[in-house]
Amino acid sequence: QQDNPIMFDNLTDRLSQSIKKIRGQANLTEDNIKDILRDIRVALLEADVALPVVKSFIDDVKQRALGREVLTSVKPAQMMVKVVQEELERVLGKETSGINFNAQPPVVILMAGLQGAGKTTTSGKLAKYLTERQQKKVMMVSADVYRPAAIEQLQTVGEQVGVSVHPSSVIDNPVTIGKSAVDAAKKGFFDVLIVDTAGRLAVDESMMQEIKALQDSLNPTETLFVVDAMTGQDAANTAKAFADVLDLTGVVLTKVDGDARGGAALSVKTITGKPIKFQGVGEKMDALEPFHPDRIASSILG
Ligand code: GDP
Repeated sequence: QQDNPIMFDNLTDRLSQSIKKIRGQANLTEDNIKDILRDIRVALLEADVALPVVKSFIDDVKQRALGREVLTSVKPAQMMVKVVQEELERVLGKETSGINFNAQPPVVILMAGLQGAGKTTTSGKLAKYLTERQQKKVMMVSADVYRPAAIEQLQTVGEQVGVSVHPSSVIDNPVTIGKSAVDAAKKGFFDVLIVDTAGRLAVDESMMQEIKALQDSLNPTETLFVVDAMTGQDAANTAKAFADVLDLTGVVLTKVDGDARGGAALSVKTITGKPIKFQGVGEKMDALEPFHPDRIASSILG
């Protein structure tokens, strides 16, 4: 079993300490359950989990922990650990999920997220991953008509990973570009079309309308929300803004190799309700890994 990125150490170390304390208790009273909950709450906040997410996590554990299930159980400490474990699994998910290929090709993957989140880089990484690991024939296209540099960046990334990039022009609109790429991908028997989109530095109504129009017209199999793990608490607000407008199918958490504190993973998963499918672990094109939520839960529980 591979190690989790360092990013999660802060979260897992602190939570494991809380779990150890629980295990050390022969009996649990309401008072020491409250102490334990306070401990877990601080651990989550220090790992940069967004406040509403911490609150709902603690509320759920509290409700079950103060109920008969734990207090009257023969082994209360063991029951309490189980409650925390189940809540972690509920929040993070248990299974690793990849790209859904259960669709007529080309499987269209729409990349959504703020500027700088890592959409273009992740498009290239994902193209490489799907080509090499899943033997797919992949095409990419940029629907960013505002920044010629973004179109060029995707071209460069395409050359780096040896994947075709459908040409786009800044005088077209994103939907026209997207549709023409889908046609080209069909004609060329591509399995996958990755559509990189324009992001802004902050959530912005016209950006949301534009990507919504792309989703409505291309009907993608996957709409992946790409989010920078380093944005900590802000990741939660961004996730909410995107999830409110788009039907997301999954999340890519980027810059997990940085010194972020891991909380973004819990926040974004809770808020979108969608699985984190991949994590970006560096700037190079091979720095993309499937996300294994069970490994985080198991490293906490030891
Ligand atoms: P976009 O505006 O969303 O398309 O973002 P870009 O793909 O241009 O990425 C913005 C910056 O983040 C670039 O400098 C990337 O190299 C960097 N980046 C993207 N993903 C990762 C990652 O997983 N780890 C690290 N360290 N840097 C990343």
